[in-house]
Amino acid sequence: MKQASEKGIRLHVIIIEGKIFKQSTHYNQCVGVLSPPIDQLLNDELGLDFPHHLTQRVIDGYVLHGHNRSIKLDGHDVKSFATRRINFDEYLLEEARKKGAQVVHSRLTGLEMHNDYVRIYHESGDLKADVIVGAFGLDDGSERIFENNTTYRQPRYLYSILTIIHP
Ligand SMILES: Cc1cc2nc3c(=O)[nH]c(=O)nc-3n(C[C@H](O)[C@H](O)[C@H](O)COP(=O)(O)OP(=O)(O)OC[C@H]3O[C@@H](n4cnc5c(N)ncnc54)[C@H](O)[C@@H]3O)c2cc1C
Repeated sequence: MKQASEKGIRLHVIIIEGKIFKQSTHYNQCVGVLSPPIDQLLNDELGLDFPHHLTQRVIDGYVLHGHNRSIKLDGHDVKSFATRRINFDEYLLEEARKKGAQVVHSRLTGLEMHNDYVRIYHESGDLKADVIVGAFGLDDGSERIFENNTTYRQPRYLYSILTIIHP
């Protein structure tokens, strides 16, 4: 959107996001640590100031613990920020809205690729677009939709299962 407006191209961007972060009912799995150069990236790539009001804790460095020794990874003045990921996701969505994107809270369910357009089906209706960008993380269902309809192929990745045990 930034590059389009710099070139004077009028873009209508629609973000299809199945989750609603505001009410904390949905979330993306994440501890919420934003590592450097997150503030610089937000600024340079998206023209956004880092949302310091969302920071719960500032992290100066890390320690890697091995069997025989531990290695301290010192930040040398660059810091990480601990946030609640849902708050950060909601912040990014809100900033996208402010920049003119339309947010549709619905799940993408199917795609139809045509020569000069793409038909996008979601749980609340369908849309016609010139281009679709898949930014679905490791969502199994979305991977299948894109694999079945485009040349996209799922990369190899480690499958992780998250368990929270309250002592
Ligand atoms: C347990 C755990 C802890 C982690 N901790 C950290 C950490 O502390 N710091 C860090 O930097 N990284 C962390 N990560 C990694 C980080 O979460 C991912 O790298 C990051 O979320 C990937 O971003 P993404 O935008 O590619 O995908 P995602 O964050 O998964 O975003 C994809 C979005 O697409 C939406 N979506 C997917 N399919 C559909 C569909 N069909 N219809 C509508 N919407 C859809 C999803 O709802 C989601 O909001 C952690 C990961 C895990 C598993």
